[in-house]
Amino acid sequence: MSLPASIRIFAVAALSLIITACGSPKKKQHRDSLHVAAGIGPVAAMAERIGGDSVTVECLLPSGANPEEFDPGTKALRQLSRSEIYFSTGTLPFEHRLASGFSGNLPDMLAADLSNGLEMIYGTHGDEPDPHTWMSVRNLAVMAANMTQALCEARPSAATYFRSRLESYNRELAAADSALTSQLAPLAGEAFAVGHPSLSYMARDYSLRQIPLSEGTKENSAKGMRMRIDSIRAAHPRVLFAEPGTENDMAREMAADLGIPMMTIDAMNPDVLTQLKNAAASLAASE
Ligand SMILES: [Zn+2]
Repeated sequence: MSLPASIRIFAVAALSLIITACGSPKKKQHRDSLHVAAGIGPVAAMAERIGGDSVTVECLLPSGANPEEFDPGTKALRQLSRSEIYFSTGTLPFEHRLASGFSGNLPDMLAADLSNGLEMIYGTHGDEPDPHTWMSVRNLAVMAANMTQALCEARPSAATYFRSRLESYNRELAAADSALTSQLAPLAGEAFAVGHPSLSYMARDYSLRQIPLSEGTKENSAKGMRMRIDSIRAAHPRVLFAEPGTENDMAREMAADLGIPMMTIDAMNPDVLTQLKNAAASLAASE
């Protein structure tokens, strides 16, 4: 089995959603619309939420691309060249490559790193910080504040509009955080299993333990996986979260082996709050 391939699989399954969020400029393009680029679908959705009809959002990660392995080419640079702001999570390698690629060519573009002020998690993705920062209601609030600051800087005339939309978004985030807190408080200290460690920040927010099915890429032999399963079993995870796609068959088998329910979670779905709420609900519902 090849768990690291799961990202490729879930990226494909997430395509339709990403396209919904950032593929088509569904908003009317106002003459003074602020054109912005977002690295990934969840960030593009946030830009649409805060920017409203004052922004036109493009997503750089193309359909089917693995966000952790994507190598941006000239298309992404073209998208950036027509954008006034580039919103990056600040954690994905392709975003760094783009940032260094355009720094000399697009001096007028504002690069907004949404990770400013976030406390990164280490140890889940080799030596790099865990890139899945957006999979946390609390992180989203920090990222949204960074985004709003950049939007206001680029278009001061619309600052009141952006800030009022941020307030509305913050109210939704606060309500979600409060719901998740009360739902997950009784589970503090408990574990869940994941095919790919995309819920590290959520686990930290609510004092849960995330147990990846595979650690790195070396343990994919049958014997290695058997040993891994035994240690996962010892952690007594309540649920196994797997990315959508063909990995589900394998994950379902493992979940059955562990005697726990399997639930699909899509870390690239632009509707992050629904993903997090569904994850919390399945944890709370598990025995
Ligand atoms: Zn990852």
